Amino acid sequence: MRETMISTETVSDKKYDLKSLSKAQLVQLCDELGIEKFRSKQIFQWLYQKGAQSFDEMTNLSKDLRERLASVAFIRNISLAQKQVSKDGTTKFLFNLFDNRQVEAVLIPEFFPDGVADRLTVCVSSQVGCVFGCAFCATGKMGFFRNLTPGEIVDQITTINTYCLEIHGKKITNVVYMGMGEPLHNYQSVIHSTDILSDKLGIELSQKRITVSTVGLAKQIKQIAEDEHQFNLAISLHAPSDEKRDKIMPINSSMNLASLKEALQYYYTKTSKSVTFEYLLFDEFNDCDEDAKNLATISKWLPSKVNIIMYNNVLGVELQRAREDRLNKFMRALTKHNVRATVRRSRGDDIDAGCGQLAIREGQPQGKTIAK
Ligand code: SF4
Repeated sequence: MRETMISTETVSDKKYDLKSLSKAQLVQLCDELGIEKFRSKQIFQWLYQKGAQSFDEMTNLSKDLRERLASVAFIRNISLAQKQVSKDGTTKFLFNLFDNRQVEAVLIPEFFPDGVADRLTVCVSSQVGCVFGCAFCATGKMGFFRNLTPGEIVDQITTINTYCLEIHGKKITNVVYMGMGEPLHNYQSVIHSTDILSDKLGIELSQKRITVSTVGLAKQIKQIAEDEHQFNLAISLHAPSDEKRDKIMPINSSMNLASLKEALQYYYTKTSKSVTFEYLLFDEFNDCDEDAKNLATISKWLPSKVNIIMYNNVLGVELQRAREDRLNKFMRALTKHNVRATVRRSRGDDIDAGCGQLAIREGQPQGKTIAK
């Protein structure tokens, strides 16, 4: 059966947003226009490998072919509005979208001792705002505006990839879907974007180097397993009991830990893949011995590792980063319970680029982000 094309309602019903199409849909569109299949590969390459922003740049396509394409489709690009570099090298990119919305993405570089770039990880946004309203998250406080298209997701990454090639002399090494928005709430676009990223005619990033994070949308977790996607899955857990999770993550009232457990065990049965539990450590909220014991129990639902993340405080949020002595005690308790856990230190907190800090203040002039 043919895939349903995503047509745009914003330009005309005869026109397609080329970067909203999956590769298969692009082939289908070309087929319907009587354009040979190999041309669709060239178009794909122009869009995602060569960064073409218009049909005119696709110089190996004839003028007639470009005109035929332009009569039914358009290319929508995002543009870089602002770039901020942290003292630790973390770089935050603010992008303008076609409808005057904005999103942020973050480059987190790790360096060898001699200063040469080792890992270049991009944290990408998947939505403008977010509907889930987690208590600790600046994005959640914005409310939800809209989903990003696959092209808007990929464009963030390709822009940062070009920057990495210029500044660090190498392409990005990893992508994490942990920026603004809940990726699995924009399932189809996120899946299309991971396919584009890993395509050899795109930037050819292995799916093993892509991590999609979720607050625990059970149905979509099962869907990933059904569809046999190879990217990694991370769970934003942040509290180890329903009682505590209810207090900071409203999603838990409809999808509690029991439903998360069921979905993850289904995921593991189907994929044999382990997951990562992300756990922001909040002072005197989720950092006591009892919490460590409960976290240990959850981590044994399936093969997993745990990332303990040191929270970057957000203006107006009561929850605070755990103190060092409490962190150390918590880590010792996890070790006692045989949990594989790593501490992730804050990166980019001087530019509000850390976990939970990404947000655009609506009504502000372009380029403004919420001040700490
Ligand atoms: S943590 Fe994720 S799911 Fe929760 S409000 Fe923030 S962006 Fe949304």
